[in-house]
Amino acid sequence: MGEPDQNKSANQSAQELGSESRATAENKAASADNAALDKTAAGQVHAGQTNIAASQNNAVSNTANSPIKDAPLARYTTLRIGGNADYFYQPSSVQDLVALVSDLQKRGEKWYVLGGGSNLLISSNGVRGHVIRTAGLTGIKILEPGLLEAEAGARLPHLAKMAAQSGLSGLEFAVGIPGTVGGAVIMNAGAHGSSISAILKTALVLDSETGTVKEMTNDELKFQYRRCLLDPLKHVVLSAKFIMPQDKPELIEARTKHNEEYRLKTQPIGFPNAGSTFKNPFPDKSAGYLIDSSGLKKTQVGNACVSELHANFVINLGNATSHEVAALLKQMQNTVKEKFDIDLTPEWKTMGEFSDDELSVWRTNK
Ligand SMILES: Cc1cc2nc3c(=O)[nH]c(=O)nc-3n(C[C@H](O)[C@H](O)[C@H](O)COP(=O)(O)OP(=O)(O)OC[C@H]3O[C@@H](n4cnc5c(N)ncnc54)[C@H](O)[C@@H]3O)c2cc1C
Repeated sequence: MGEPDQNKSANQSAQELGSESRATAENKAASADNAALDKTAAGQVHAGQTNIAASQNNAVSNTANSPIKDAPLARYTTLRIGGNADYFYQPSSVQDLVALVSDLQKRGEKWYVLGGGSNLLISSNGVRGHVIRTAGLTGIKILEPGLLEAEAGARLPHLAKMAAQSGLSGLEFAVGIPGTVGGAVIMNAGAHGSSISAILKTALVLDSETGTVKEMTNDELKFQYRRCLLDPLKHVVLSAKFIMPQDKPELIEARTKHNEEYRLKTQPIGFPNAGSTFKNPFPDKSAGYLIDSSGLKKTQVGNACVSELHANFVINLGNATSHEVAALLKQMQNTVKEKFDIDLTPEWKTMGEFSDDELSVWRTNK
């Protein structure tokens, strides 16, 4: 992959990046492919080689940047909730993604980027505007010993396993996080005492307002707990480079497996969910503890339910709507506020049409 100069024009930089990094993504996806991608056999990546992890299902396909109209989105989220997008795209290259967003921005259209949909509540009323899913951008490459580059749509569990097999340490924490590289940078995803910010060297970012692509350093991204400087309504993460110390593959794999097994025991994987619902308000007082201590486990609004296994997980018992989920989140917030006088802030992002009352859940300092 090229080393784009800072502040080149969007298309120029993206062309350089894309010329080598093309995953032969077939731009095809469907309900099962969140899972299918994560289960892709982890293959070892060798220096200078681009690994291809194209999505494998073909219920929905579109070529280049032509949209599918009125496309259902629930299948692309781990909560399995969400109405239809007016227009839906799955670009198969970084250049296509940059060209698409730049064009929509110029035309004053509303656009949203969807990664793994694993930290999102999409409105059951759908999304007015253009939804762009990054599942076709899955190129992964070892640039030099200890330096890994991955495109925005590469899945963390897959990346973690491939890195482990290639003797690259640092992503062991990410094996149970079912998001993409782009979503993980935006969220500063983390677990088991580490996070993306601990290993990220740079991210290649499109600023839609200036139309430029820039390689931003870790410092420039200003990472904090579950956030960074980037605004997903303005910036698009195209790819990221990670500094990963070398270690024996069997040792890295053992640590990765340990983390994976811990997850299986502690999280309600049998039901659709979007991971931790609220951020931990204090390092020593987790949201899960506060919700559990408020007696909220198993509380239900419609088919949205607080998990019995992990109180900070909201699960979809089947056909739950975003309205039910938002109402449940509000009830959780209010109960914890009454009992502990602590405001819980959702970790999840929203996409699409929500009422003011529903959006009040996402306004902290109420
Ligand atoms: C079972 C389970 C366990 C989880 N465990 C953890 C955990 O341990 N730690 C943790 O931190 N998180 C965890 N999560 C939450 C989630 O996986 C992470 O937040 C992940 O980083 C989200 O990535 P994503 O690609 O799914 O993002 P999405 O949910 O698709 O999007 C999240 C936000 O990022 C934006 N976005 C996505 N891609 C891009 C891009 N390329 N450019 C710009 N904006 C973009 C979206 O517009 C949205 O605003 C878990 C989720 C589940 C379901």
